Amino acid sequence: MKENICNIPIHDIFGETCGCPICRIEKMLEDIYVEYTTGPAMMAPDVRIITNKKGFCKKHFDLMAEKGPRLSNALILQTHLDEIKQNLLPQNSKKIPTTAQQKGIAQLMSSCYICDRIEHDTVHFLSTVFAEFCEDENFRKSYESQEFLCLSHYSLVMKCVKNDSRLKKAYKKEFITATNNLCKKYLESLVDDVTKFSKMYDYKNRGKDFGTSKDSIERSIDFLCGK
Ligand SMILES: [Zn+2]
Ligand SMILES: [Zn+2]
Repeated sequence: MKENICNIPIHDIFGETCGCPICRIEKMLEDIYVEYTTGPAMMAPDVRIITNKKGFCKKHFDLMAEKGPRLSNALILQTHLDEIKQNLLPQNSKKIPTTAQQKGIAQLMSSCYICDRIEHDTVHFLSTVFAEFCEDENFRKSYESQEFLCLSHYSLVMKCVKNDSRLKKAYKKEFITATNNLCKKYLESLVDDVTKFSKMYDYKNRGKDFGTSKDSIERSIDFLCGK
């Protein structure tokens, strides 16, 4: 199995400023992996061993069914379901599943081949972000001028800051400050906007302009859950 199936165009991703940049990367990786899983990977025995074991989350099963060929989906499901039948259910119908089998079912419910690949590549990609931030002033500006980092990606970036040597000491503080700004300032603006939105329902404000509070509910959900 290839470590990375694509080179993420870092400057294209950060050239845009709308929304969370890491969400944009994940969306790109998701499209690639959905196509890859129901395409070339379907015939790769080493990938099938993993997909049979891990399965997929609801979102990615749905995307594969929607975008991938019907036959590919059926073949992937055939071996995946068969593995569940062989290993996770009691062979004797009078017995209940063993503790190991119950554990296996619980594990299967929370694992997804595509989610795992996306997570792996995103962490790898963040390492490139750190390196670019240290080397390229224009990239630093692009990073700082992002609209925001969603809460989950803010947490991921900060987690990686701790363990990644590609973020040189001389730029660490600057990077941390920029990252905090991308999350904190946006969060503060959301609090203001949602507050304003609620106040707009006061009769005294009838007919007034909602301004930036207009889509504050949707933007708060994007911030909290990613897009
Ligand atoms: Zn995000
Ligand atoms: Zn998934």
